[in-house]
Amino acid sequence: MPTGFDALVIGGGHNGLVTAGYLARAGRRVVVLERRGRIGGAAETAELGGVRVPRLADTVGRIRPSVVRDLDLRSHGLRLVEPAVRVFAPQPDGRAIALWADQARTVEGIRAWGLHDADAYPGFDRLVRSLGSFLAELAAQTPPDIKSPGLGDALTGLRLGRTFRGLGKRDAHTILRVLPMAVADFVAEAFETDALRAAIAWRGVRHSFLGPWSAGSTAILLGDSAGNDGGAAGQTVYAIGGPGAVSEALASAARAAGAEIRCGSRVSAIATREGAVTGVVLASGEEIAASTVISGLDPKRTLVELVDPVTLGPTMRWRAANYRTPGVVAKINLVLDRVPRFTAAGDDEQLIHGRILAAPGIDAIERAFDAAKYGRPSDTPIVEATIPSLVDPSLVDGAPDGTQVMSVTAQYAPYTLRDGAWDRDGRADAFADRVVGVLDELAPGLAGSVRAREVITPLDLEREYGLSGGHPLHGEQALDQWFLWRPFLGSGRYRLPVGGLYLCGSGAHPGGGITGQPGQNAAREILADLKRHR
Ligand SMILES: Cc1cc2nc3c(=O)[nH]c(=O)nc-3n(C[C@H](O)[C@H](O)[C@H](O)COP(=O)(O)OP(=O)(O)OC[C@H]3O[C@@H](n4cnc5c(N)ncnc54)[C@H](O)[C@@H]3O)c2cc1C
Repeated sequence: MPTGFDALVIGGGHNGLVTAGYLARAGRRVVVLERRGRIGGAAETAELGGVRVPRLADTVGRIRPSVVRDLDLRSHGLRLVEPAVRVFAPQPDGRAIALWADQARTVEGIRAWGLHDADAYPGFDRLVRSLGSFLAELAAQTPPDIKSPGLGDALTGLRLGRTFRGLGKRDAHTILRVLPMAVADFVAEAFETDALRAAIAWRGVRHSFLGPWSAGSTAILLGDSAGNDGGAAGQTVYAIGGPGAVSEALASAARAAGAEIRCGSRVSAIATREGAVTGVVLASGEEIAASTVISGLDPKRTLVELVDPVTLGPTMRWRAANYRTPGVVAKINLVLDRVPRFTAAGDDEQLIHGRILAAPGIDAIERAFDAAKYGRPSDTPIVEATIPSLVDPSLVDGAPDGTQVMSVTAQYAPYTLRDGAWDRDGRADAFADRVVGVLDELAPGLAGSVRAREVITPLDLEREYGLSGGHPLHGEQALDQWFLWRPFLGSGRYRLPVGGLYLCGSGAHPGGGITGQPGQNAAREILADLKRHR
């Protein structure tokens, strides 16, 4: 068995690369084993119809500034660009909500919908930023050890207590009250206009098996605003070259620090002896030894598929199998032969530089979710799209003039269909037709300008990217799978219940999105353990 590594990282998603980068910078010998032919996982730029598209994720504004700084990603080629508009939500009646990076500009636009909401917006934006800053502090910490708390846990508790007090009495009360709330109720406390409520509440249910009336969706909205400049509008930031550029910069940083990255290396088992890891076995049959194995895969796949059930034990295997991963997102990538003309945008092309949201009201989102609850793809999907080539023309270099790429996230497309599977009866294409239809109603002629299209269903997400249940975030971010409970109580500190086995991906605290935060937190804990034990 070849030896020589201090740690093996399974999966070259962005979090695996973050962990590998920190370990390598600390002088540890580390290798990343990625199953696909390329690194990045869900943070990937791929080829479609002769241009480059963000294949899954498109915006990268949640990446933690400390990760960018520590790993010196800018000197490894990372360039971020932020359009002036964050969200443009065209309505069926030809009007639109626009949320800008500039708060005053947002307020000015909302005024056309009603004075009450225009007056309420700054206060709501302040509240989301304030509560988000507490969650950002929480996200950066390792959840405390509740079984045998040590000095580190006490210090974490003190730090969190200080940040909590820093919220002030009113916001401190508010955060405890609103975290378990339905996001529909949360936005209704501030705003009267349904279109505005929906444009903000959407982020509380995006990528989740939740509707706006589901409990705990406010926590997701606030979590989305944690550690970035999103506020009430949410962030909209692109990487030049697409999200794959984040992964490339991370890989370059890790390699420069001495890490090795091997693509086309699917791990088929985690080897153990006497309850502790001894290395991994690749699908090729190759075995690689190390006493520290770090999984960037979701916790269900890691424990149920890769660890021997006898080593794991029946209780832990049952808990891992019951970790909830109900995917609801389909991704549709389009190559267009011209810039789409949204009726509500008129001639102002700038309006469509950010996220374009087709969610015409709270009830419309809830109704679309209803279909998923009963195992059907929605007939009236909620659609969030971006046209990154408008701010990053390098994506369409060499393509005929006017060519654009449109990246579309569509909900609700449940992984589990009551009457069959996604790969039967052309149902993926039928769903994509409905999604394009939603956009075409708002931008007449868009459907006719599609030159190439690809549809990625939750089943594809599972098969191609290894995401259990096709869940974009490695598992629901509901309150029962959050903080100490992510992925489950007793394993919320990046250490899984097998000696030397760690979790560094989105299934660990604080969860999914291109943040690098689980990878950064896991690296801190692993380095502390390595220092302690050797
Ligand atoms: C459609 C979609 C749209 C999204 N949009 C956004 C967005 O706009 N902004 C945002 O911030 N977030 C978005 N997200 C969420 C975000 O992309 C993910 O949460 C994040 O990229 C996950 O990163 P990760 O490193 O934790 O895991 P992953 O990216 O899932 O990486 C895991 C890696 O492990 C590899 N792997 C799997 N099995 C094995 C094995 N047996 N052996 C070796 N390797 C293996 C996989 O190939 C993959 O590379 C989106 C997700 C999806 C699916």
